[in-house]
Amino acid sequence: MPRPEILFALFADLSRLKGIGPRYAKLIEKAAGPKIIDLCWHLPSNVVDRRFSPPIATAPEGRIATITVTVLEHRPGANRRAPYRVVVKDESAEMDLVYFHVKGDWVEKLLPVGQKRVISGKIERYRDRAQMPHPEHVVVEAEGPSIMTVEPIYPTTEGLPQKTLRRGIEQALSGLPKLVEWIEPTLMGREMWPSWDDAMRTVNSPTLPADIQPDHPARVRLAYDELLSNQLALSLVRARMKRAKGRSLKGNGVLRKKVLDALPFKPTGAQLTALAEIEGDMAADTRMLRLLQGDVGSGKTLVALIAMLNAVECGAQAVLMAPTEILARQHFATIEPIARAAGIRVEILTGRDKGKARQEARLRIAEGSAQIAVGTHALFQDGVGFRDLALVIVDEQHRFGVHQRMSLSEKGAGVDTLVMTATPIPRTLVMTAYGDLDVSKLDEKPPGRKPIDTRTVPIDRLEEVIGGVARKLDSGAKIYWVCPLVEESEQSDLMAAEERASTLQRRFGDRVGVVHGRMKAAEKDAVMHAFKDGSVDLLVATTVIEVGVDVPAATVMIIEHAERFGLSQLHQLRGRVGRGDRESACLLLYGNPISETGKARLKVMRETEDGFLIAEEDLRLRGAGEVLGTKQSGLPTFRLVDPEEHVHLLPTARDDARLLLDKDPELEGPRGQAARTLLYLFERDAAVRYLRGA
Ligand code: ADP
Ligand code: MG
Repeated sequence: MPRPEILFALFADLSRLKGIGPRYAKLIEKAAGPKIIDLCWHLPSNVVDRRFSPPIATAPEGRIATITVTVLEHRPGANRRAPYRVVVKDESAEMDLVYFHVKGDWVEKLLPVGQKRVISGKIERYRDRAQMPHPEHVVVEAEGPSIMTVEPIYPTTEGLPQKTLRRGIEQALSGLPKLVEWIEPTLMGREMWPSWDDAMRTVNSPTLPADIQPDHPARVRLAYDELLSNQLALSLVRARMKRAKGRSLKGNGVLRKKVLDALPFKPTGAQLTALAEIEGDMAADTRMLRLLQGDVGSGKTLVALIAMLNAVECGAQAVLMAPTEILARQHFATIEPIARAAGIRVEILTGRDKGKARQEARLRIAEGSAQIAVGTHALFQDGVGFRDLALVIVDEQHRFGVHQRMSLSEKGAGVDTLVMTATPIPRTLVMTAYGDLDVSKLDEKPPGRKPIDTRTVPIDRLEEVIGGVARKLDSGAKIYWVCPLVEESEQSDLMAAEERASTLQRRFGDRVGVVHGRMKAAEKDAVMHAFKDGSVDLLVATTVIEVGVDVPAATVMIIEHAERFGLSQLHQLRGRVGRGDRESACLLLYGNPISETGKARLKVMRETEDGFLIAEEDLRLRGAGEVLGTKQSGLPTFRLVDPEEHVHLLPTARDDARLLLDKDPELEGPRGQAARTLLYLFERDAAVRYLRGA
């Protein structure tokens, strides 16, 4: 089913707007988006109250005022750069309206001498004389009341006046269709929410500053709509996955016993609990869809391996997919020798493996002589076939989309899926990214880990730090040195890293290696390898090492300009050390001046190593919007939902979505149809495709 006709006008492009030429249309697209609906979603960020109407003589500086004046005189500027002044007055005093870069005849028409006009704008004072630069409104007296209102201010972009943007938004809103209600009636009644189109108009025509606050019922309703569409879409994906019959995988435990017996350590209680949950899911004849959440260093890889062996014991195949080349190789390096010792063949397939070796690996996977495959998404792009794929494990899933995960699961009949993440996001927020999946948590670290001695040092003391590095290197330590993140360009990241590396190389010679995102995979590998087992003892890196790299011998982590990183990112980076039983240290170098918040954030890093606590503190210190709005969090970005203000609606949205789909799995009844419209409205078309007859 294509998009319903009633939404056509909303999804038209901006060229439909009357009286707005292509130049402004481009700017509106930049500010809001390419379609009419984007303008509807473009909510005001502020209001201007134009109801204040003081006499000129006492009009306070800096306030917005709307005043009825008589035009006295025009004084064009003496040259092109001088302002054009129009002298006006009311009963109390005179005032200048000041214009820069305008055509005289335009001003003359707008403000004819001797006539009355109502003007509105910001009052300034210059040598005790009131003036108003570029009044935002100039109208005839009769229209005065129409501008003495509370006016919405929209986020805009350079060159796009509020007025033009507002005109576009007004047009977009004037064409709003009446849609059949999708929200459950008792919920509507209890919350006293307005209908969708009323809510849209209300948020765009505030009469009080409070009307644009995120807790206004109209705002809340729209946020709920977006959350409901999010939960419906995820439930549809999930329902589709569960509908495809699963298979019961109950291995005999032989391989698992072999591997566990050969390990130099025992699984933690948390690992055992998670494994029991996973094995329970795999044994059931429905499909597993489970998230394994565990802080860095909590031992997710072992859990993954044991789960894969369960599938292999049943004569099936398993695959482990990582988001980056480095990580895939890392997993392979960890898993392969252990599996080989148990008589299992593991293949690696990434974008980089080419030619004959790749052909042979693919063949072994296809015929089933390789039971486990490790790789990046390249594994699934060019039609790698499996003989009998039963389990898919996706590491650091937040970098993949839901649909990528789907396409993966379709490689085998009734495939079980386990998603692993180290991102400590709260349960409710996990739901926005994954829907209602089952969660296992590794909330216990392997024993014997010593706390990481974390310190903060101003970067001016670099010489001292390098002295410390020299001593550490002498005592045989392996050290990471992470270079600052420069938002604007990868290029400058790179330069920073290379520059730092050459400084350190001058001092420490060949013991220094560099890795960054621009290097060829083989070069990266070689350096990582040399750091893990060879001659490199000091590894200078950009954030490519952030996720998952495991070099247990590394004991020192130095992070330059730590104040520029997110706390969770710092936590991930710090998690690269303290993996063995040796004492580890982390040095956070910060640049001066540092903000109060910056200081507070680094203090959190000194005080705790608990990833969940750190995530919560980060939320508190920076605000949910900033933390969760970013790509790094892996969460979907919302148009109308403010993560901080609206996340409490999520459980309701989830229950509502689930109830609706229980009663009407194909969304065919009247409310079901309305819900389909909702899905289209928020462009979840892909999810609608999972419905029968769609
Ligand atoms: P994660 O992927 O969760 O960050 P890893 O799986 O990389 O963590 O494990 C981190 C380190 O801890 C690895 O060196 C691993 O061999 C080790 N490890 C895992 N489980 C245990 C355990 N039960 N006891 C001791 N060490 C463990
Ligand atoms: Mg890992």
